[in-house]
Amino acid sequence: MTILSTQLQALQQRLRQFADAHIAPTAHELHLRGEQIPDKVLEGIVEQGVFTLPFRPEIGGSGLGAMGMVIATEELGRGWFAAGALPARNWMAALMLDKFGTDEQKRRWLPGVVSGRLQCAHSATEPGAGSDAANIQVRATRDGDSYRINGLKRWCTHANRADLILTFCRTDDGERKHEGISLLVIEKLRGEDFMPPSLTARRIETIGYHGMKTYELTFKDHVVPAANLLGGEEGKGFRQLMACYEMVRLQFAFRCIGLAQAAFEASIDYAKTRMQFGKPISQFQLIRAKLADMATQIETARQLGYAVASKYDAGGRLDLEAGMAKLFASEMAQRVCQEAMQVHGGNSMDLSFSVNRFWRDSSLCTVGEGTSEIQREVIARRILGERG
Ligand SMILES: Cc1cc2nc3c(=O)[nH]c(=O)nc-3n(C[C@H](O)[C@H](O)[C@H](O)COP(=O)(O)OP(=O)(O)OC[C@H]3O[C@@H](n4cnc5c(N)ncnc54)[C@H](O)[C@@H]3O)c2cc1C
Repeated sequence: MTILSTQLQALQQRLRQFADAHIAPTAHELHLRGEQIPDKVLEGIVEQGVFTLPFRPEIGGSGLGAMGMVIATEELGRGWFAAGALPARNWMAALMLDKFGTDEQKRRWLPGVVSGRLQCAHSATEPGAGSDAANIQVRATRDGDSYRINGLKRWCTHANRADLILTFCRTDDGERKHEGISLLVIEKLRGEDFMPPSLTARRIETIGYHGMKTYELTFKDHVVPAANLLGGEEGKGFRQLMACYEMVRLQFAFRCIGLAQAAFEASIDYAKTRMQFGKPISQFQLIRAKLADMATQIETARQLGYAVASKYDAGGRLDLEAGMAKLFASEMAQRVCQEAMQVHGGNSMDLSFSVNRFWRDSSLCTVGEGTSEIQREVIARRILGERG
């Protein structure tokens, strides 16, 4: 029994076939070599119309809303955790441009961002501004018709492939830290060269999530036209970021669900074929219980996520629900991936087995897009009726 419309079921089936044919077969080999998702897979995802899914037709979208977004995310993430992340930055950028962009900014960038023809990265995090996103110190100083950017950003995923990096900068030192942040859209050429000497990058090597490359960015008097200030008004960046968090967290939840589903399916296959004591290990009660628990937890996260996505599409505030969906799905994915390792016994440690890729990738789940501790804080604030 599914609650999905015929249209969403068709989307799910189409993207599952795409991921099975073009993403999953090479994911592990690429992961082991530390290589990113190939260009032709990215092009394929663009051709599948994935980038357009959540948006209304007037701006080039497919009109499938948050439900379309979460279905696509799970299927891509089931193929490779990083593939589920691939459209996320564009979805965030399109939402911001659509909500806050000037007419000129919408005209220049929105069609390319919605279609996926332009690739986006977003850069909020800094060495001293992680969970405390309002503590951003990278400075943008107005200089005539432009801004000069100086400082260090950390953890900017997809920056190499991006045509646009949405960069959160400090433009004012007032007492209320979050009111001094502005969002500048930085245009660059695609590739590893960045824009030396004023914008350079160093890749951060990671234990997982290899399908996307992540960078530290150094700005030294990097000049950006003042026309690239989102919305044309300083001091709005923090609010613009917060306005996307519901969608971003819901999307992240389904990256985790796709990952958990892949780990679960690998565990089913392994448990049915691994023989011990003269029978498949799937016949041992304790292994069966693990598989049953995995399936139950994944389905619980999925149904919660669907409910939140439907509510998102209906409109209204849902930071509480999006936080719950992200918190539950991310911790669920870590539990499922850990149990999948246990089902694989000693082979879980053999690098040639995909299960340890799932487990490594799952380490990002409770950190990215708001840590579990921050989600709990957001939830606690709301259930206690506190301001926020
Ligand atoms: C692979 C990867 C890719 C990333 N990609 C991007 C990207 O593309 N763009 C971008 O801007 N950022 C990106 N990030 C950054 C990510 O969003 C941050 O890592 C995350 O927000 C946490 O910040 P932090 O790492 O500085 O941890 P900290 O904020 O230093 O947290 C450390 C610990 O303290 C806890 N903590 C912090 N504050 C509180 C509090 N108030 N109450 C309770 N506990 C607290 C945290 O939950 C955590 O357990 C990426 C990170 C990784 C690892």
